Amino acid sequence: KEETMYCAGCGVQLQLEDPGKLGYVPAEAFNKEPVICQRCYRIKHYNESSSITLKQDDFLKLLGHVGQTNALVINIVDIFDFEGSMISGLARFVGNNPILLVVNKIDLLPKVTNLNRLINWIQRQAKEHGLRVVDVVLCSAKKNQGFDRVIQSLQQHRGNRDIYVVGATNVGKSTLINRLIADFSDLEAELTTSQYPGTTLDLVKIPLDDGKFIVDTPGIVYEHRLTELVSKRDLTRLMPDKPIKPIVFQLNEGQTLFFGALARFDFIQGPRQSFTCYLSNAIEIHRTKLERADQLYADHKGVLLNPPNLEELENLPKLAKHPIHIPKGKVLDVQISGLGWIKINSDLGAELAIHAPKGVKVAIRESLI
Ligand code: GDP
Repeated sequence: KEETMYCAGCGVQLQLEDPGKLGYVPAEAFNKEPVICQRCYRIKHYNESSSITLKQDDFLKLLGHVGQTNALVINIVDIFDFEGSMISGLARFVGNNPILLVVNKIDLLPKVTNLNRLINWIQRQAKEHGLRVVDVVLCSAKKNQGFDRVIQSLQQHRGNRDIYVVGATNVGKSTLINRLIADFSDLEAELTTSQYPGTTLDLVKIPLDDGKFIVDTPGIVYEHRLTELVSKRDLTRLMPDKPIKPIVFQLNEGQTLFFGALARFDFIQGPRQSFTCYLSNAIEIHRTKLERADQLYADHKGVLLNPPNLEELENLPKLAKHPIHIPKGKVLDVQISGLGWIKINSDLGAELAIHAPKGVKVAIRESLI
């Protein structure tokens, strides 16, 4: 029958077709009463939230009301793709509500990283993005580092508010929410419906002990992140799971580095100097001469130069070239969203070009480490 059915947990319209979309319920579960969507099922039975995703515009439409409510917004970003995982327009959308910036995956940074310096760096970057935050907390949701500080800051700033958790995809939002559920929530209580006017999408509200809610929002998909473009298999190679071992290259002008077949770094002009690559150690780096780079790529992409393999390469946009001017007197990073970054160690100045799949964001920034 074609009757429209809604999840008894969160109220989302149920569907049987797409496990990756909101409201999915496996056919076997459809005949049970009450029917709840797979997402609610997982939260109820396994304390496990997993992100549903939306494009940014739809996200802002869905959550446009947050500015009018009294809420604490936890914005989770990924230190490994800081710019790429920042939500543009977040300041406008949250209104006067406080934002707590939780910077996740710090376990990936080299052990020697100076954390106070890092927090200052983050505060400056947030400010540049027009984001005023009540606190910056570093953590690793996966390795359970810094979580006390997250809870502490949350309690300090929450008052009597609901908590909205927002973040781009793959920043670790589910991992973090699962920890929050374990620490905070009263799973005996029912998951409640939260329907908002003008949308068919709903949010999962997880009841807290004091009658307030943690609201899990859909993960925002940014197509400017390489992590959104690669296959599942390459995603696990792209996203490091242990501390990054930076690799230093002394290069002369006219030399090129390939990062698998995913990206390419050309040192076109400038004094001999060193560059430090911060990326997943599962990605092999090949050095060659700039004048040979095109040929090497044509002959060896997807084989010697991998990931991705040849087949997966077909599904990636072609490499696009970004000329980059590094002025004298500055120590900067070139960031390739989702892949990592290259620190230009000297302040001697350089002319570079980055080749990355078309659409992937390439940017320079004050150096992080
Ligand atoms: P979501 O899409 O934001 O909900 O992200 P998930 O919680 O599903 O995590 C995305 C990926 O990042 C998974 O592969 C996680 O294992 C990984 N991840 C999450 N938190 C951390 C962390 O603190 N450190 C590291 N290294 N990986 C993490």
